[in-house]
Amino acid sequence: MCGIVGYVGGRAALPLIMGGLARLEYRGYDSAGVAIQSPGGELVTAKKAGVLDNLRTAIGDGADLAGSTGMGHTRWATHGGPTDRNAHPHADGSGRLAVIHNGIIENFAALRTELESAGVEPVSDTDTEVVAHLLGAAFAAGPTAGDLTASMQAVCRRLHGTFTLVALHADRPGEIVAARRSSPLVLGVGDGEMFLASDVSAFLEYTRDAVELGQDQVVTLTADSYLVTDFLGNPLQGKHFHVDWEIAEAERGGYPTFMDKEIAEQPEALANTLRGHFDGRHILLDEQRMSDDDLRTIDKVFVVACGSAYHSGLVAKYAIEHWARLPVEVELASEFRYRDPILDRATLVVAVSQSGETMDTLEALRHARRQKATVLAVCNTNGAQIPRESDAVLYTHAGPEIGVASTKAFLAQVAANYLLGLALAQARGTKYPSEIAADFDQLAQIPDAVRATLAGMDPVRRLGQDLATAPAVLFLGRHVGYPVALEGALKLKELAYMHAEGFAAGELKHGPIALVEDGLPMVIVMPSAKSHPMLHRKMLSNIREVQSRGARTIVIAEEGDDTVAPFADTLIDVPIVPPLLQPLVATVPLQILAAEIARARGYDIDKPRNLAKSVTVE
Ligand code: GLU
Repeated sequence: MCGIVGYVGGRAALPLIMGGLARLEYRGYDSAGVAIQSPGGELVTAKKAGVLDNLRTAIGDGADLAGSTGMGHTRWATHGGPTDRNAHPHADGSGRLAVIHNGIIENFAALRTELESAGVEPVSDTDTEVVAHLLGAAFAAGPTAGDLTASMQAVCRRLHGTFTLVALHADRPGEIVAARRSSPLVLGVGDGEMFLASDVSAFLEYTRDAVELGQDQVVTLTADSYLVTDFLGNPLQGKHFHVDWEIAEAERGGYPTFMDKEIAEQPEALANTLRGHFDGRHILLDEQRMSDDDLRTIDKVFVVACGSAYHSGLVAKYAIEHWARLPVEVELASEFRYRDPILDRATLVVAVSQSGETMDTLEALRHARRQKATVLAVCNTNGAQIPRESDAVLYTHAGPEIGVASTKAFLAQVAANYLLGLALAQARGTKYPSEIAADFDQLAQIPDAVRATLAGMDPVRRLGQDLATAPAVLFLGRHVGYPVALEGALKLKELAYMHAEGFAAGELKHGPIALVEDGLPMVIVMPSAKSHPMLHRKMLSNIREVQSRGARTIVIAEEGDDTVAPFADTLIDVPIVPPLLQPLVATVPLQILAAEIARARGYDIDKPRNLAKSVTVE
């Protein structure tokens, strides 16, 4: 999430920073801002909501922003809407210190309360601003006074969450101090100049000599030196590397396409989506303009969405009904709004949309609100129209998704829907607090399971090459495997322009089996043998039925499922996870399969024909 650039050296900083931000705009486009140390010893900032061009226009010829030390930011909002006020850099009360930030400060609410009781009046809604005030105070007085590096170390020790922070102080000309925990930050070493950026594409035109900062490290830059320390001030060695990538490749993190990169980012997308939603006792939603009492009055849930988001809703149905004992209906937004659904004050409508601008979903939620239903948005874009018009919001923190076919945003939606299921179970008392804690703990382990899944995908890639000339592929699933089958088929249609259909396996004999012929590839999402033995047995019968009619069976099954092996022409293992959470791992091979088939057929995976990233028309 978000793009960060820093420069200190002998040249004018502004054009270098703006150029770097343009390269990083794919990382965030809610707002952009810069701060430059002026030759007069002041800190000058400019920031503007919206795309980088808005800032460019505001800056004009940049005469006010002269100076050769500075930093810039493109924002992907997580806390506070995408407004001028919330744009970075953020200042402390003195106006002599500026901070930019990538990530989420999890304990910002407690820190903000502490600052407010000390008389600080924040001017933004961001989590970032608390860091500016803390850093300003540490620099102004006490043991770290006058030392920006030591102040940064001290402040970082108090922060929870993920962050890259970069700070400038007017009293420290020619110095930039940055810190990193989890969020990315690389340093570019030039001749008498230094660069900092979220990824190397921002400075590749100027230097290919880079240093990677590790976890929990601080770096202090001047034009011709850099010093790396840990949060306690111990000196460390930075990890040097030479960048061979071309710029476009660097923007994609070295992956051939954004979609490949986004598939690989899924463990982080999931961890970020779950982060901060459980305080050890309670599940917390983001912006909840309704109380637990309001939640308790809910007697029915509708999930309304389109495309992959709709499939995330189908998964949610199984989890919410099971955990919260509430009836859940999942509706395509375009059908819901023209169907006169039965809604009242006791209905919760969950509107799921990556962009938060999907027209059908927006109109569906407007219809629901007119009928007095309560609306909760699950959205990946802070401050978008759908969350703005909803009663409550649960943000997926997957970061910007550039690939048109959804991957990490879809998994993050599934995770957010699980959080909602647990929040409803908690409010309704259908689970003991200890059960909620155990369920959250299992969810929190999923990013590792997805990482393990991703590590074993070579056979799937080979299979993709093999299936490139198949005329069609069918997908079968049961229980939560059914929406996974639908999602797998949708990916294949979107990316490889192939005929693909997903079916509930129980429906096979009611029609789809007529499609089975010699050599037809069928992907089967196997239920857990241990947790769902009955469904597992039924699925084995389905596999036999299609295999005996000539289908080529590709089976996604949990590790160690020996019983299915004899019936699988290709067996793809996924880690064992609780059965309701299986979609989070079982979807991954299907994304990769679709991408690989599309690649083998020579298609542009990031920009499939006829499709748009967010569908803002009906
Ligand atoms: N959490 C910060 C904000 O919402 C930083 C987001 C980012 O990474 O751009 O402003």
